Amino acid sequence: MSNNSFYITTPIYYPSAKLHIGHAYCTTIADSVARYHRLAGDDVFFLTGSDEHGQKIQEKAEEQGIKPIEYVDKIVAEFQNLWKMLNISNDDFLRTSQKRHEKVVQEIFRRVYDKGDIYKGAYKGLYCTPCESFWTELQLDENGCCPDCGRPVKEVAEEAYFFKMSKYADRILKHIEDNPDFIQPVSRRNEMINFIKQGLDDLCISRTSFDWGIPVPIDEKHVIYVWFDALTNYLTPIGFLDDKEKFQKFWPANVHLVGKEIVRFHSIIWPCILMALDLPLPKQIYGHGWLVVDGSKMSKSLGNVVDPVELINKYGADAIRYFLLREINLGQDGNFSELALVQRINADLANDLGNLLHRTLNMVGKFQQGEVLAPQGKSEIDQSLINDAMAAVKTFDQGMAEMKISNVIKAVWAFISRANKYIDETAPWALAKEAAKKQELANVMYNLLESLRIISVLIAPFMPTTAEKIWLQLNMPEKFADVRLDAIKTWGGTPAGMHIGEAQQLFPRIELEKEEAAPQKSEKKDTKKAEAKPAAADGEITIDDFAKVKLQVVEILEAEPVPKADKLLKLIVDTGTEKRQVVSGIAKHYEVKDLIGKKVILVMNLKPAKLRGVESQGMILAATKGDELEVVSVDMPVGSVVR
Ligand SMILES: [Zn+2]
Repeated sequence: MSNNSFYITTPIYYPSAKLHIGHAYCTTIADSVARYHRLAGDDVFFLTGSDEHGQKIQEKAEEQGIKPIEYVDKIVAEFQNLWKMLNISNDDFLRTSQKRHEKVVQEIFRRVYDKGDIYKGAYKGLYCTPCESFWTELQLDENGCCPDCGRPVKEVAEEAYFFKMSKYADRILKHIEDNPDFIQPVSRRNEMINFIKQGLDDLCISRTSFDWGIPVPIDEKHVIYVWFDALTNYLTPIGFLDDKEKFQKFWPANVHLVGKEIVRFHSIIWPCILMALDLPLPKQIYGHGWLVVDGSKMSKSLGNVVDPVELINKYGADAIRYFLLREINLGQDGNFSELALVQRINADLANDLGNLLHRTLNMVGKFQQGEVLAPQGKSEIDQSLINDAMAAVKTFDQGMAEMKISNVIKAVWAFISRANKYIDETAPWALAKEAAKKQELANVMYNLLESLRIISVLIAPFMPTTAEKIWLQLNMPEKFADVRLDAIKTWGGTPAGMHIGEAQQLFPRIELEKEEAAPQKSEKKDTKKAEAKPAAADGEITIDDFAKVKLQVVEILEAEPVPKADKLLKLIVDTGTEKRQVVSGIAKHYEVKDLIGKKVILVMNLKPAKLRGVESQGMILAATKGDELEVVSVDMPVGSVVR
């Protein structure tokens, strides 16, 4: 396999305040993609950094009576600390205040100036200080304010240098139209096309009203204004000036991952600068959505800005990473809620993943004294588990290459559920009672360990610490850092004859605090007694009780009457990972043909039961009153979780 190079960047963040959960989201996406490409054997360069110049920073520093560099040093150290806590694997951290970057920016200015694409003019414009953006009258929002942030703009006039962006309007438009993948998602692409069709103005690229910036090399009165300074950060660390070989390897970048509000700068201004430099354009600009918190946009005035450092201290980096990557479809806005985070930790991490590991290691310890015995032969159930494992690896590989992160995680967790179900199907505790079933038991144990080996690699981009913990508990001989995706593309990599390691809990279940679980009741004279007793006195259940019920969207594939039972139908449903048989008392309310293809909600973890001698694996939800009955149907993909 040849080593492909892969270069991914986050935006450089602005140190006017501490970073919030939205920044952590963006950087975690980039990190998981970078980690995937390293797993796949690519030569990866992953860049993040800080955008440190500008009037706003200068003003903030002046307020505090310190130099701008002192101000940014302090905040940028916090950025770097956050990335360390979140386990971000960036290869470099570019600060625009660094000398290496100043050299690059000045050289770029000189080259573009020598080409005749920079000229001196006078700028009169409407300026938004927080966004550092100039706007024309037409671009302002309906209140006459900044179209990006909604804050008031002020009129500014000064001598300035301009970049002839208008010269490149046709070329960039053609590039966007000819390259459907250049801007993702598609909605952003259409916005950009419309924006360019309205015409591009030349771009003001220098200021004289403040001096916290990189001096214009041909005119020391001016400092270079944000775009030439900030966007060019992507060139500095990959050897633009000083390492030709490295530069050729990593440029053009594969992905600039950015928030949707700065897609325009990256997909129009940046390519025009690159065209002026005769450099190839990045392969893709990916605009991710925004995080809202409990349904509202994060803002200081609402007091709902979520500090990722606090969250990591409380729940650990892997749980936060998992939640952000799983809950939000890349490109769309997503909701952050601490309650939902805790539910995910309990259901997906402590229950599904934690239990699979724990049960498996316990059984191998108990039944085989911790030894991994060689498998011989395969049952049908074994083969179906193996097929599902290989399908999960394939989905992972293809999905991550396309950055469909949330879908990939769902597929990996579907396989985790599958492996848990394999335990129930094979009932190893029963096999262990019969001496004649020793080999069958050994096969089951082997298949579970091998499933976990594969799972540990599949979760590595999302939860690197947990992935390695599993690997170590399995006691795999290879160093986890050296493992590549190829190692799980074929079944059977777990060596027989070795012994497993010590079982340790991955994620403790988090008990929700009382006030969160039951906000109305505040009578608690004897707290200890109240906690010891399940809160069932008046039929109330806690959120944890409810979380035990696993509800999921399934599709009805087949339906037929149950003989001698005029109320019952036998249904075959597709859960997304398997087919199940469910007996349902709805025969009097539905024609069989009307049920086929219907997507309904199934209680997944109901103990299987026999109804009139027919096994039923789960229960379909229906609303009923008097004689009326209707099954609850939804229009969501099969496998969607209902909660
Ligand atoms: Zn603004």
